Amino acid sequence: MDHFTYKQGKYHAEDVAIEKIAGEIGTPFYCYSTATLTRHYNVFAQHFSDVAAKICYAVKANSNLGVLATLAKLGSGADVVSEGEIRLALAAGIKPADIVFSGVGKTANEMAFALEQDIFQFNIESEPELELLSRIAQSKGKKARIAVRVNPDVDPRTHAKISTGQKESKFGVAMAQAPQVYALAAKLPGIDVQGVSVHIGSQLTTLEPFQQAFARVRDFVLELRGRGYVINTLDLGGGLGIPYGQGEPPLPDAYAQVAKRETAGLGCTLIFEPGRMLVGNAGILVARVIYVKRGENRTFLIVDAAMNDLIRPTLYDAYHEIVPAKETSAAKEAVDVVGPVCETGDIFAEGRKMALPTADELMVFRSCGAYGAVMAGNYNARLLVPEVMVSGSEYAVVRPRQTYKELIARDNIPAWL
Ligand SMILES: *Cc1c(COP(=O)(O)O)cnc(C)c1O
Repeated sequence: MDHFTYKQGKYHAEDVAIEKIAGEIGTPFYCYSTATLTRHYNVFAQHFSDVAAKICYAVKANSNLGVLATLAKLGSGADVVSEGEIRLALAAGIKPADIVFSGVGKTANEMAFALEQDIFQFNIESEPELELLSRIAQSKGKKARIAVRVNPDVDPRTHAKISTGQKESKFGVAMAQAPQVYALAAKLPGIDVQGVSVHIGSQLTTLEPFQQAFARVRDFVLELRGRGYVINTLDLGGGLGIPYGQGEPPLPDAYAQVAKRETAGLGCTLIFEPGRMLVGNAGILVARVIYVKRGENRTFLIVDAAMNDLIRPTLYDAYHEIVPAKETSAAKEAVDVVGPVCETGDIFAEGRKMALPTADELMVFRSCGAYGAVMAGNYNARLLVPEVMVSGSEYAVVRPRQTYKELIARDNIPAWL
């Protein structure tokens, strides 16, 4: 459920008309709803209120400080994948004790920074990473608390580009190799083993892969304990899918039941890293129609947002619902919704049935809160679009539109010219 809807024929984010924001800051822009974000966090958290659990929002889904601060206030921790994300999480008020650090390529500098902040846990993905972390921790007279991210070799049945838990994946350590990684960890002077972690992919639309992965991890925790390791935390990752207007992924309630059932009696503090599930449907992208172009046998809706603003359709074949900001009951026809970027892949939707808008009309791309603005770039020298956050009848620009001055100032002309 989200708080984006028509009121008296005009699309609103909570109590603010999209048309009003567009009139004041221009298009395109991302818009996030505080009420939706709050609802999603609370629904998720509530299902784990009866067990020891930490919810560490996956910052990479949307790292805007307004979003992070909203979640921090609700009690969320953070799952981060870079020093930049640690710094953003801290700036938003998330406590180091609620931060877990994931990723296959943590650098020495990033490890040093995370250790100085005394974050809760490093999720380790290889032996060389473990050795480097131990050396850095030792040089600082500290011990790094770690979990090893295991790869349960489960097919998450999602898009290939967001599958992470199969044998061929660069992520995690194979179940068969994991015992030797724990043996190494136990010997290293800068390392404190505290848990096990797993994350099998994103936008999962069925529960079975989670169930299989969690069951394998549960057995593995018991095996490690049998070998004498103390395992207190179990990080079950993120990945729960959201409805994008097609299909109905499992609800958080059903997901929580599986997670709790598969880990019952272990006595571990559970860690969850939901990203998309919290922010995906809490954001929209608003664009304006530039032209309606009647081709020989196709009609193109050319909008002022493009693949550099929202890359999901071209990168993941993602589906986003697209609706006009002005409600209409006009007859629908098939159109291709495209951006102005000079790439054939700059297509948001092909053959989509919709009432044909006119030039200058506002269009709303739904479910753009996750992996939207964070993946934006400047391709075609297009400015990064602003982000706004709505709360009730108020809105705030949480990131202003980039300016052409900033765009040009990014580069230097060499002195010899
Ligand atoms: C991306 C990622 C997540 C979040 O995934 P969602 O599908 O957005 O929930 C969680 N944990 C790790 C390690 C990730 O890489």
